[in-house]
Parts: sequence; C-alpha cells; structure tokens
Amino acid sequence: MLVAMNTQPPVLGIDLGGTKILTAVIDAAGNVLARDQTPTPAAEGVAAIITAMTVSAKRAIAVAKLTVNDISAVGIGAAGPSSPESGILFTSPHLPGWKDVPLRDTISRKLGKPAFLVNDARAAALGELHYGAAKGMRHFIYVTISTGIGGGIVIDGKLYMGAIGAAGEVGHMTIQADGPLCDCGNHGCWEALASGSALAREATSHIKKGAVSAILDYAGGDINKINAETIQLAAKHGDKLAKELIACTAYYFGVGLANLINVFNPELIVIGGGLSNMGDMLLKPAFKEARARAFRKPYEATRFARAALGGDSGVLGAAVFARAGLAKLE
Ligand SMILES: [Zn+2]
Repeated sequence: MLVAMNTQPPVLGIDLGGTKILTAVIDAAGNVLARDQTPTPAAEGVAAIITAMTVSAKRAIAVAKLTVNDISAVGIGAAGPSSPESGILFTSPHLPGWKDVPLRDTISRKLGKPAFLVNDARAAALGELHYGAAKGMRHFIYVTISTGIGGGIVIDGKLYMGAIGAAGEVGHMTIQADGPLCDCGNHGCWEALASGSALAREATSHIKKGAVSAILDYAGGDINKINAETIQLAAKHGDKLAKELIACTAYYFGVGLANLINVFNPELIVIGGGLSNMGDMLLKPAFKEARARAFRKPYEATRFARAALGGDSGVLGAAVFARAGLAKLE
C-alpha cells in the first residue's frame, strides 16, 4: 500500500493570498519538489490574478523538470468563504471585486487537470495535520493569527467542513457583541479584537487622540504605516502603549481560545500566522486567560504548539486536499 502511495504522481498546490501567490509541486510523501512565488496583482482584478496563478504554476512545474502532464491534480487554498462542492470562491477579504468566482473550474480548464478548492486556513490545518505539528492527531484545531484570524477544525482525524463546506471560521465567532466592526460586517468578532489589523487599528486610534508612543517612530513617522510589526518593535523597546495594546490582544486571543477548548475539547491547538511570531509576549498571557475561562479538565487536556510548516502549510495542505478529492473521483 505504502509503495503504491509513493508511486502516485505529484500534485500542484496553490496558495492564493492577498499579497502573494505561492505554488509548489508536491510528491506523494509531502516533499516540495519545486516552488514559485509571485505577487498577487490584487488591484488588477480576477483575470489578472488567475493568469498569475497559472503562470506561477507552470513555472513551478518547469523548475521541478516536469510537464503539466506529470501532475495529477491541482489543490487551491484561497482566503475567503468558498464552496468545495461548486468550486466557487464567494468573496475574498483581500481581493477587491471578487464575487462568486468559479476559481476551481477556471484553473482546472487553464491547466487541463482536475482542481479542488478549499479555504486557505483549512488547507493550512490539513498541512499541519499530515506533515507538521499536528501529525497523527485526532482532535485538533489550527488557528492562524495574522491580519485576520482563520482556522481549521479536525475532528476524529478529519477536517470538519460543515453542511456547505464553510465550517472553521473561528475568526468570526462573536467575542464582544457590541465590539468593533469586523470586515465581515458583524461586530466584535474574534479577528476584530485580536488580530494584527485590530492591533494596528487600536494603535492608530490612540495616537490620533494624542497618545505619546514610540510606535509612530518605528512606523517612520507615518501613521498609515503602523502595523503589528512596528507595535511589536516598540513593545520590545519598552513602549507603554505598545505593551498595553499587545496585552489587550492577548487577552481577547485567550478568550477565543477558551471558547474553542470548551466547545471542541481538542487535544492540540496549533497556532500559526505572523502574529504567532511574537511568541511569549502574546501567547503566554493568552494561555493564562484561556486557562482562567475554560473548564479545567479540557484546558489541562489541551496542548498548544506553534505551526511547524511556516509558509508551506497552505500549499502542502492544498495538495493533501487535492489528493483526497482525486481519490473520491476515482
Ligand atoms: Zn467577522
């Protein structure tokens, strides 16, 4: 069986993000044979982005010294709600003008191969489950904390998709009913309180109101350049406002973790995304808050780990999703 598996042809994984497109040729054992990265021409619209995806895919295949015929399928991980069944990406938070795009079938037609579409954070969860920090786990939740908060829920060893394939939107659980407006239109979502953009929004607002902080210096004096990184830098150098804002982000991050622990009783929560690189500064107080709120036994049964696959989790997981989809077709 193992031999048969390892003789399966490689698949192509595509990770479509708001700023970059990553494509990779991945063999049956999860080795990345070649990869290509290109900026997402977000402002140029749907057609330009699809062209950029196929051009990048073909480059990755060429780097692997293969042809498109050597690839058995294409897995696409894309930000935003989508239907794995219809292959339609309904909207994408970082791609203006995207509405009900038949992304899966368009890519399939352009490359002449079966294609499969899954949300990018769900793809990353699959990547971590098969090759990363959650290898062999039965009950695990992947949480990515960066510009927003995304997730993937694995129950009994399987990615939980829900009735229409939309399950796992942990970033949009309501944490504070009358809280700040979220990009999704709701108020007080987890990502409206505990993400990188929430952190930047709060810092900007405080500074506009006259707060004195080194955050602005780290942003080169330009209030529009304030982001999670400049706030982290300021906090590391002892800036009071930056430290307070990160503590506030950690608090809300912990509140959401407690909810996930109480609802799902996971054995493991894997935390990825840019903000997780803040490490203890963010995660220690978050875990403390989660411990204070969650039921004791499920909290004690939960292990926390940092994501292990870095930038490759999306393409690796998209490839896993494509292989599973292909197996269903056969
Ligand atoms: Zn929301």
